[in-house]
Amino acid sequence: MIDVILKKGKEKSLLRRHPWVYDTAVARVAARPAAGETVRVVSSEGRVLGLGAYSPASTLRVRMWTFRDDVAVDDPAFLRARLAQAIEAREPLLERTNARRLVFGEADGIPGLIVDAYGPWLVTQFQSAAVEARREEIGRHLMELTGARGIFDRSDAATRRREGLEERIGCLAGDEPPALIEVVEDGVKYGVDVRVGHKTGFYVDQRESRLSAQRLAEEFKRRHGRGLRALNCFCYTGGFSLALAKGGAQEVVSIDSSAEALSRARANAQLNGFDESTLRWVEDDVFAALRRLREEGETFDLVILDPPKFASSHYHVDRAARAYKDINLNGLRLLREGGHLFTFSCSGAIDVDLFQKIVAGAVFDAGRDAWAIERFGAGVDHPLLMTYPEGEYLKGLHLLLRDF
Ligand code: SAH
Repeated sequence: MIDVILKKGKEKSLLRRHPWVYDTAVARVAARPAAGETVRVVSSEGRVLGLGAYSPASTLRVRMWTFRDDVAVDDPAFLRARLAQAIEAREPLLERTNARRLVFGEADGIPGLIVDAYGPWLVTQFQSAAVEARREEIGRHLMELTGARGIFDRSDAATRRREGLEERIGCLAGDEPPALIEVVEDGVKYGVDVRVGHKTGFYVDQRESRLSAQRLAEEFKRRHGRGLRALNCFCYTGGFSLALAKGGAQEVVSIDSSAEALSRARANAQLNGFDESTLRWVEDDVFAALRRLREEGETFDLVILDPPKFASSHYHVDRAARAYKDINLNGLRLLREGGHLFTFSCSGAIDVDLFQKIVAGAVFDAGRDAWAIERFGAGVDHPLLMTYPEGEYLKGLHLLLRDF
């Protein structure tokens, strides 16, 4: 096995069991490992720090498999056990949904691998040289461990380019999935298009927030004797809109700039047999629509803001912060007294504290006051590995307006 020797002092993060070795931390490599080849990482003092997968083209030069040196990581049994453990941990979710993340990369000890399950179909993303090199093997294990009908590979994420990998979309194992896979989440049906949908087709990471929206709609109706009126911004295929309809919302206005997403959303509403008069779909830019709605004097009991990732890296944090501030301010302005705001950020570069500060600034500028009565994050199928805080990308707040 080839040794990767670190510069003096650069072993600290590995000693804390963080799974990445940056190119800038490497002093020398004893030979020329291939992409994905298992290497031994050694400190400048000769201490063995563990075994990882080498990625010659990436600034993330090594992704660690283990912090021991006595594990047979190249043995198929190693990956199979890691996959089995990941899959087993998601079993309890089946009571609520058949749309689940089975493998969440680093958090499951399989750096760069994403596996989502939609009923009997799996969708994969190979985002590192580490897992790309073992793609066929992973496909075989997944088929055997889950009994899936087929695996569709959506390895088109931008992260692949940074690893020097080409984009690849197509069937990896078993049968081709149908054009639309029907899934159920907390009693709501969704059609998922795994070929062109965002991520692997559906935002499984917003499950808990969607359920919370459903519960809020139910509670509102009980307390006020009428359904709530909601505005769902960046609605995509209708996730929150349908959850609200299920909860008994009186009217949901949903905005997205994508006509395809909206037609999927409409079809999803039909799939559930929801009363079409409660759901209004608007193709528009949210930034402009929020201003227009205000001019028109519209008000809502609930506004949801679930935008795409505004900050793709640390370089874009300032610009992204302004965009988050803008939609939050203009969203708050549409709320009635005692209204609710669900607001999210899926930018990893914007942490929980910064997001809270941005939203607090918007609350202040709107001349309102608010309680944060809930904090949102991705569900239990996206566990936060304590040694890998980068895994916590999605955060959200449920604000309740309190005008003191
Ligand atoms: N809330 C959704 C996921 C949102 S994904 C769910 O739970 O499923 C983000 C969405 O924002 C995408 O559908 C994209 O088309 C849309 N979008 C991106 N920029 C936009 C803009 N400026 N105005 C309106 N929609 C936008």
